[in-house]
Amino acid sequence: MELRANKLMVVVPCYNEEEVLMETTQRLSALFESMIKENKINEARILYVDDGSKDKTWPIIEDLSRSNQFVCGLKLAHNAGHQNALWAGLVESVEWADAVVSIDADLQDDENAIVLMVDKYNSGVEIVYGVRKERATDTVFKRSTAQGFYKMMSSMGADVVYNHADFRLMGKDALKCLLSMPERNLFLRGMVRLVGFSEDCVYYDRRERFAGESKYPLSKMFNFAIDGITSFSVKPLRMIVGFGVFFLVLAVAAIVYALVSHFNHYTIPGWTSLLISVWFLGGAILLALGVVGEYIGKIYKEVKKRPLYFVEKRIRPV
Ligand code: UDP
Ligand code: MG
Repeated sequence: MELRANKLMVVVPCYNEEEVLMETTQRLSALFESMIKENKINEARILYVDDGSKDKTWPIIEDLSRSNQFVCGLKLAHNAGHQNALWAGLVESVEWADAVVSIDADLQDDENAIVLMVDKYNSGVEIVYGVRKERATDTVFKRSTAQGFYKMMSSMGADVVYNHADFRLMGKDALKCLLSMPERNLFLRGMVRLVGFSEDCVYYDRRERFAGESKYPLSKMFNFAIDGITSFSVKPLRMIVGFGVFFLVLAVAAIVYALVSHFNHYTIPGWTSLLISVWFLGGAILLALGVVGEYIGKIYKEVKKRPLYFVEKRIRPV
């Protein structure tokens, strides 16, 4: 039988993940073997993208590739960030693979959901999103910030699948479309939605990291949220226009009030109100400038067209 998911590639970005690689490789290999046995796929590979790790991540990947026929690797020359590392892996996979799954190295996203994704792909769905059922294993802080993030994203007009991160399957056709997007500020979960094709979701429980610690501290998450909004939405700019109109109306009222006071010969010192409005308007202007600056920053980055990453070494699928 001609299988749609003939060759499956699982792309795994890794930043200082020496503690998890062995376990992750074992689990994914076992999964591949059972999927091949069940005739869901014919061939599979894991592509580890070493995102400029400072620990033994790359030597471990090299060792694994020698002992395990599933393992391939890509070593980026510096820490390009999760989204860029993932992009590098997708670019690398698109030639070889019919379907590509992306998953984090810590397997917090249940790898068994890959089987369901492949089933959907084999039945004709082109993009399958992994969606978390709940986040009971995350800390309260992480859970509420993440939930706030999704809510904010959708209210700002960026179309993302609720509770879906970067655990998904894409068919070759959809992937080629995604990779044809020339932008530099990657926000993959939003960009994939722009591709279209047929979509579906599979649901899974998110687990705790089995080893190592999060490589996404609050500062990175915060930057990611800002990037997500400003890469996908011009709503903040519109909001500024709204603010502008609001302050203009206030200003007209203030002018009328000042003129009336003046002609009625009230001698109010006016110092307090003046000071407050100066500070207040100053703040509003700064805020507006900040948001505009955010977009100018994006334009600056896009215009430079710098490569997203540089490949230092590669172990190709054989
Ligand atoms: N990661 C990466 N580059 C970075 C930071 C993280 O490639 O600069 C990878 C990391 O190795 C992991 C994935 O991105 O495979 C998600 O990171 P992590 O599990 O630490 O994030 P969390 O699950 O805490 O959000
Ligand atoms: Mg994780």
